Amino acid sequence: MIQRVLRRSPTTDSDTGTESDSAVAVRLEGVTHSYGSAGGQLRTDRDRTVTALRDVTLECQAGDIVGLKGPSGSGKSTILHAIAGLLVPADGTVELLGTDLTSVTDRDRTRLRRRHVGIVFQRFHLLSSLSARANVALPLVQAGVPRSTRRDRAETLLEEVGLEDRTDHLPGELSGGECQRVAIARALATDPDVVVADEPTGELDTATGSDVLELLTDVGRERAVVLASHDDDTLAVADRVITLRDGAVISDGV
Ligand code: ADP
Ligand code: MG
Repeated sequence: MIQRVLRRSPTTDSDTGTESDSAVAVRLEGVTHSYGSAGGQLRTDRDRTVTALRDVTLECQAGDIVGLKGPSGSGKSTILHAIAGLLVPADGTVELLGTDLTSVTDRDRTRLRRRHVGIVFQRFHLLSSLSARANVALPLVQAGVPRSTRRDRAETLLEEVGLEDRTDHLPGELSGGECQRVAIARALATDPDVVVADEPTGELDTATGSDVLELLTDVGRERAVVLASHDDDTLAVADRVITLRDGAVISDGV
């Protein structure tokens, strides 16, 4: 279905002082995290600590698709959130393109995320009142890209994910698979070095899911992709699968 590789232009990263295509894109070392402890958020009002990650060490290189496998609650989403700088683990380091996200300010962490990380969620997280084009352009608004450039870039990306005839549609007018393709186009808007995908096929039927996976495979040719799933068919697109159990890495396959 996908004719073209979703290519990216090589850039030099002035934030980190490193080449953005340097081999190791993501490295977690000794990462431990509990929810409900200092710095964590509680999901329930029960005053209880949940250890989500235990001494997790892993890395992902540019051009790699790394799969995170494990049952619900094993810590997959927590790892993706740490990579995206959406949470700072209680212990350990999370390097994104050589910069330790745990030792920078909140503001710098947000900036690094916006510039270098694209996020694809299970439930798409599109804004329902905005067209496909405007959803894709949204990260470019935050990045201060001029309006005309935003429009061109969003349309190019939508074309690359096969949605050139859906640019003016609202999410409610699109199928689940189309919404996820819009979400992938949005994740690529800022040309990120790293893409994290959290159960990206979880809401999709098998055929639609495999279109989305084909797209992610293309995305992963030049970027680092970390893909969380409990589904073996989804994980089949990964170059390497890391298996988690109760927040710990139990195998890191090659
Ligand atoms: P997975 O993505 O593999 O299902 P998660 O990373 O979401 O796993 O969750 C790991 C553990 O942390 C689970 O026990 C889960 O209940 C807990 N957890 C996740 N998010 C929160 C939160 N915001 N507050 C409290 N506990 C959480
Ligand atoms: Mg999850």
